[in-house]
Amino acid sequence: MNHPIHFVSLGPGDPELITLKGLKTLQKADIIYCPATRGKHGIISRAMDIMKALDINESSIHPFILPMSKERMDALNVYNELFLNAQAEYLREKQIVIVAEGDAGFYSSIQYVYDKFKETGIPVDRIAGIPAFIAAGALAGIHIVKQEEQTNVIPGTASFDELSAKIENGMIIVIMKLPSCQTAIHACIQQYADKAIFHYFENVGTKKEYYTTDTDIIHSKIFPYFSLLIIQPR
Ligand code: SAH
Repeated sequence: MNHPIHFVSLGPGDPELITLKGLKTLQKADIIYCPATRGKHGIISRAMDIMKALDINESSIHPFILPMSKERMDALNVYNELFLNAQAEYLREKQIVIVAEGDAGFYSSIQYVYDKFKETGIPVDRIAGIPAFIAAGALAGIHIVKQEEQTNVIPGTASFDELSAKIENGMIIVIMKLPSCQTAIHACIQQYADKAIFHYFENVGTKKEYYTTDTDIIHSKIFPYFSLLIIQPR
């Protein structure tokens, strides 16, 4: 057997922002493993919503439930089980696809499973996708970085001091996973509202898409999981 297990990037939320190559790979799959979480009213999965909108055969989609806890071990247990299930189906000659939102290699813990297959000697192939911050830039119509400017993408673990050092240096900052640094961001907005533009996004590419640069509104927000900020010097 030498056909690969495909890791398909789904893009940030708008079903049309998947690549043609990604879509064709989904259409040929026997089994698609798809991340989900357990909500109050059942399973929640943006990845599943994207694939349903693309008319992917629902019976081929197998959700795996990721825990909401921040304990990495909890997620690793889920990924280890996913690895074993996918490996067993692969050995039965099935066409296996594993999906991830945005780009599957950009702050995407599914890379752990990719690496495990690689170590086992099973061929893997990853199809690139549009990361959320690139789609956010398009929504806002902004030139994310230009000329000699530099950008720094950070995962929401930054302190106020780290953020302000970057802002003072004229760095363009993309902050993902906002809920973990809500306090630092609120403090930065108070300090730098006149020196920097804060582009705030939620749920880019979905029906709940939201964009504002109004610092009063951003300051009053409790950031949801699918939110990000792009901070640019004025
Ligand atoms: N692989 C993804 C990133 C996953 S990390 C990518 O390439 O974009 C999860 C973080 O991505 C979220 O906390 C949020 O900051 C951001 N994100 C993902 N999709 C988003 C969306 N549709 N709108 C806004 N932020 C999003």
